[in-house]
Amino acid sequence: MALRFYNTLSNELETFVPADETTVRMYSCGPTVYDFAHIGNFRSFLFADIVRRTLEFFGHNVHHVMNITDVGHMTEDANADGAGEDKMQAAARRVKEDKKSGKVPEGAVTNPDDPYQIAQYYTDCFLEDARTLGIKVAFEYPENILHATQNIDAMQEMISQLLDRGHAYVGPDGVVYYSVESFSQYGRLSGNTLDRLMSGAGGRVSEANQANKRHPADFMLWKPDSTHIMKWDSPWGTGYPGWHIECSCMARKRLAADVIDIHTGGEDLIFPHHECEIAQTCGATGKDTFARFWMHARFLLVEGEKMSKSKGSFYTVRDVLEGRIKTESGQTAGVRVHPAVLRLELIKSHYRGNMNFTHKGLMDSAGAVKRLTDFRNRLEQACAGAAADVDFDYPILGKFADCLADDLNIAGALGAILPWASTTPDDPAAALGALNRMNEVLGVVPLTPSSDADAESGSENSHIEALCRQLDEARAKKDYATADTIRGQIQDQGYDVKTSPSGTIAERRLA
Ligand SMILES: [Zn+2]
Repeated sequence: MALRFYNTLSNELETFVPADETTVRMYSCGPTVYDFAHIGNFRSFLFADIVRRTLEFFGHNVHHVMNITDVGHMTEDANADGAGEDKMQAAARRVKEDKKSGKVPEGAVTNPDDPYQIAQYYTDCFLEDARTLGIKVAFEYPENILHATQNIDAMQEMISQLLDRGHAYVGPDGVVYYSVESFSQYGRLSGNTLDRLMSGAGGRVSEANQANKRHPADFMLWKPDSTHIMKWDSPWGTGYPGWHIECSCMARKRLAADVIDIHTGGEDLIFPHHECEIAQTCGATGKDTFARFWMHARFLLVEGEKMSKSKGSFYTVRDVLEGRIKTESGQTAGVRVHPAVLRLELIKSHYRGNMNFTHKGLMDSAGAVKRLTDFRNRLEQACAGAAADVDFDYPILGKFADCLADDLNIAGALGAILPWASTTPDDPAAALGALNRMNEVLGVVPLTPSSDADAESGSENSHIEALCRQLDEARAKKDYATADTIRGQIQDQGYDVKTSPSGTIAERRLA
C-alpha cells in the first residue's frame, strides 16, 4: 500500500518510499531539558511516535533518533539568529524558586547552580512522561541518551568542515557564524528567503551582533564565552555551540547518513531551527538534500486559546493525569485520568491542524478508551485470548490501513473503529487480532496481551497493567491479602501504586 505524507519542503502530499530498502532513517527534535515538557511538546513527540509506529505497521524497519537539548538553546529562539540567554542559564535561577514552591521536589537538583543536574532531572522527567504515554523510546535507554553536551566533539568537527568549505567564518567578535549567503537554498523550507528576511518579514532578524556579521541572518555556530554556564575548549576559544548545530550533527552521526528519510518536529521549529539545520548539513556534506521528508505537527491550543503561563494553562503531562486542569467552567477538574486517555486525546485530531485540548475532549477520550478496553475484554473472553492473524482483507483493518496511509488520518480511523467496538463480531478471534494490530499504532487500549513482547516499553507496561487489573479484581472481591501481595509486586518493579476512579494506576518512580 502506498504511504502518503505531507512534506513541508514541497508543500505537497507525496508518496513515501525510503531511500534504503532495509531501514527508514528518521530524526526528531527532542526536548530542551530546562523545564517540564508541556502537553503541546508532547503532541509533537506523540506525532513522531505515530509516524514511527505507522512505518512499522507497514513493515518498515525504523531507525529513529531523538536528541535531548541541554546547551545553546537561547531564550529568544524565533529569530534567524537566536538571542537572549541560554535556557539552561535561565533555568538555574528559576529552579531555586521551583524548589521553594515544591514544583521541583526537595531531593531533586540538590545544586541548582549545576546545569548538568538540572538537565538530568528534566531528562528523567521527560523520559518518565514519555514512557507513561507509551512513546517508544527513540534511543538506547538508558546508556545512550543523546544529550547535546555528549556530542561536542562531533559538533566542532562539523563546524570545522563548514569553515573549510566556505560556509562559515569567524566574526570580529570571535564568534563562528554560518554565512547564509553561501547557501542558495536558504529559505526553501520556511519561505523566509534572504530577500524576504531583509525586508523585515515578520521581524525575525534580531538586533544582536549585527556589526559582527556579514549578513543579518547569519547565525551562531560557536560562541567563545568563558563565563557561560557550560563551556568547552575549541579551536575558536572556550565557549559553547549554537542550538542548531547539534541536530545536524547528531542526525548525521547517529543515522550514519548524509541524507535521511524523515525529519519531524513541531511547526515552531520550521524557522529558524530546521532552516538552519538544512543549511548546516548540506553545507557540510555538499549534498542538496538533508531530509527527504520534513513533517511538522501544528500548535496545541487549550480551551481554544494559546497556552499561557499567566492563565495557568501550560499543562504538563502530570497536571493532566493528576487532574490539575481546569474544566470549561474554570473549576479544577480534580479527577485522575489513565495515561492512555491523554495519549488518545493528543493523537486523535489530524497533526496538520491545530489541536484544541479541552476538558470535554479529554472526557470524550476517556469514554473512547473505556469502550475500546471493554470491547477487547469481551473479545478476549469470547475467544479465550487466542487472537487470530488477520490481514488487510479484514474490513476494519483494511479501512484502518487506508486511513493511516492517507497522511496519518487517525481521526478517520477512529471514526470507523469506535462504532465497530460496539458490535458483536461473528469471529471474535479475528476481531481481536485486528484490534491488537491497530493498537500497535494507536497504543490506547491499555491492557495489551503478553505476546506483545518486542515493544520496548510496551511489554513492561502491559505486564504492569495486567498486575493493576488483578489488583482491582482482588480489591473488588475484598481479598485484601492478595491485593497487598500484588501491590508489593508492582512496587518491587519500581512503580508507585495509586488509585483512581478508573482503577489502579502504577506510576514509574524516578531513578
Ligand atoms: Zn532539532
